[in-house]
Amino acid sequence: MAFTNTLFKKILNVKNIVVEKAEVHQELDGTNHICISARPTARHMDDCPICHKRCMRYDKKNAQPRTWRGLDWGTAVVEIVYDTHRIQCPKHGVLVADVPWAYPNSGFTKDFDLTVGWLAVYLPRSAVSELMRIDWETVGRCVSRTLKEIEPSRSRRLDNLVHIGIDETSYKKGHKYITVIINHDNNTVVWAAPGHGKKVLETFYRQLKPEQLSSIKIVTGDGAKWITECVQEFTPECERCVDPFHVVEWAMEALDEVRRERWIEAHREVKKLKNEHPRTPGRPKAEDQKSQQIEAAKDKAKELKGARFALGKAPEHLTENQRLRLLIIAQTDPQLYRAYVLKEELRLILKETDLAIAEAELKRWLWKASHSRIPAFKDLYKKVKRHKEHILNAIRFKMSNARMEATNNKIKLIIRKAYGFRNIDNMLDLVYLVCSDLKVTLPGRNQKSVTPA
Ligand SMILES: [Zn+2]
Repeated sequence: MAFTNTLFKKILNVKNIVVEKAEVHQELDGTNHICISARPTARHMDDCPICHKRCMRYDKKNAQPRTWRGLDWGTAVVEIVYDTHRIQCPKHGVLVADVPWAYPNSGFTKDFDLTVGWLAVYLPRSAVSELMRIDWETVGRCVSRTLKEIEPSRSRRLDNLVHIGIDETSYKKGHKYITVIINHDNNTVVWAAPGHGKKVLETFYRQLKPEQLSSIKIVTGDGAKWITECVQEFTPECERCVDPFHVVEWAMEALDEVRRERWIEAHREVKKLKNEHPRTPGRPKAEDQKSQQIEAAKDKAKELKGARFALGKAPEHLTENQRLRLLIIAQTDPQLYRAYVLKEELRLILKETDLAIAEAELKRWLWKASHSRIPAFKDLYKKVKRHKEHILNAIRFKMSNARMEATNNKIKLIIRKAYGFRNIDNMLDLVYLVCSDLKVTLPGRNQKSVTPA
């Protein structure tokens, strides 16, 4: 058994264990299971799982042996079987004794947890689940254990913050929110919590020490009043900016409101024409003017419905087809086209790097929007005017919008992916793991090593 013992220990990648026996059995679905009976060495049998000190044994062995899943060996599922017992640590109390191959309260080996943590960062949900033969919920728990292993405490993320961003992201179709604090200097998430609003943001500020508060110089976010209030309350010296990409989002919403109104009007027109001219059996005659009118009205409604993406995109990214759509709108619907131009102008102003130019342009834009005779844009005018100083601050302090938007999108994507974890802590842990400077290393590897083919 001596050679087998060493071999098994090497493959399992665990020190301080003794392999007692191994069995192979086949499950009904045809998969082979290798069950390895192992135990910690006598010296490590009564270790505390938290401080790893040798402790007093508290009770006898469990009658029911526990099983841990390890990484597959080839196509076979590997399980470690051991009957645990409890110990009494002078510092941590009565606990199940540590096993060298697994983290406390995990049903998997350490290598398994870390491998899943690595995979969850890079791969889509379904791929991780299928490869590791575990459900997505379990992936969440592996992610949390991986994060705890590589970053036992997150408090260092709150040190030396200078430029921070506050973002609320909705998920579950806008029914639930997560508030995320971003460090703009390294694009990492420093803090995340469920919910949104002033109360949640206050929890963030309250945990900061005075020196941590005083290092913050710039806070960005959307136009929410509670952000401004918190900034004034906790960091009055701080400059407040409104992220330009949020302003563009407001403009997009206003534009979409105009388009939707137009579409409803067009739809109503189709209905009206149809009522006035009910269909008679048989094919409509070619020279039937009423049917032609109905067809034209239908086309217009369809055109407006399909124009959403063309109107929302930046002109430089438009496809040939979308460009044509815009041309049709310019010729047939001057008001909708004016709304589109206003949105585009605002977007370009926010890209400006020269503050004096941006200020002058924004002033002109505000005048145009207020005289546009488009209700949605009059509302937008009021909103932009209200936040004018904070919008210009983003340009004044050279907060790179492209980078902020990219981070924001990344977080949104991760939240959408992590939403499958019902446990909110697992969900936040994936956000912390991905949006950070942490690197999960695959077990048994020191650095990136790729074998040439
Ligand atoms: Zn202990």
